[in-house]
Amino acid sequence: MVTYFRGAFVDDREAVIGVKTHAFNYGTGCFEGIRGYWNVSEGQIYLFRLRDHYQRLVQSCRILGIGLRHTVDELCALTTELVVRNGYQQDVYVRPLAYKSSEIVGVRMHDLDDDLTIFTTPFGKYLPAENGCRCCTSSYRRVDDNAIPARAKVTGIYVNSALAKTEANLNGFDEAIMLTHEGHVSEGSGENIFLVLNGALITPGPTENILIGITRASVIEMARRDLGIETIERPIDRSELYVADEVFMTGTAAEISPIVDVDRRPIGDGRVGPVSERLRRLFDRVVRGQANAYRHWCSPVYPGVPAASVRA
Ligand code: PMP
Repeated sequence: MVTYFRGAFVDDREAVIGVKTHAFNYGTGCFEGIRGYWNVSEGQIYLFRLRDHYQRLVQSCRILGIGLRHTVDELCALTTELVVRNGYQQDVYVRPLAYKSSEIVGVRMHDLDDDLTIFTTPFGKYLPAENGCRCCTSSYRRVDDNAIPARAKVTGIYVNSALAKTEANLNGFDEAIMLTHEGHVSEGSGENIFLVLNGALITPGPTENILIGITRASVIEMARRDLGIETIERPIDRSELYVADEVFMTGTAAEISPIVDVDRRPIGDGRVGPVSERLRRLFDRVVRGQANAYRHWCSPVYPGVPAASVRA
């Protein structure tokens, strides 16, 4: 496996950091998760919304004060080259990570070196999406914008997510739903959340301490364009989860994962609902470059591979 590390493509075994690295000690890094989808009939891998992910990385870096030496275009090109160098013929996950690389003791953000690494790994399903997930409301509140800004994908934030996820799993649930400090629904440990209520889609807005997800944005657009359903962004009460017709989560890893049970209350009839199902089926085609209207979201990595028949 090849990894991008310290400005070069190196063997995985050479991509190692020292124990004194600032980001390792203090969580002072930010990252992205990007999926690459293998399209068997085209012999192609499509990176999903590659530019959007790097634009969000730039924003995360701006919030943390991490200097990126590359433009978004350069980051896209580096990522494409990395996937090609690894010769994948399967679904992959790409993890760019910008971090404070100084090997120094001292809590701060300023006067430190910055570095970037990008690694890849084969990747399958993240949540048990087929028959829907069972979730609980977490006892851990989502980090607040004035604690660690949730709109930045900060490595250190994932302690908050990991505590919530482990609590959920050890209590027998698939995923946690985190609330804001005001008690509104925020998001999952690594996913945004949507409710279907009275024919509309509802999701927490950007000021509810969410990571403003790229899958979230994709679902909002697909629902409007293909299902004729508008999405309302507003604060959501915990008890609205219990009376929703459908609930689902979205994320690069989780894709579109229907939720069939929250806090041991079945959602709707306790089975995957029709809106979730339609969105999920559409998304599966979109990400593999099989839906013409969304081809611009899919960046092919291998050059010279003829596009197979594309359906609208
Ligand atoms: N919230 C959190 C906390 C996440 O880690 C993720 C995954 N990146 C998401 C939401 C979903 O974001 P996206 O759809 O861009 O992957």
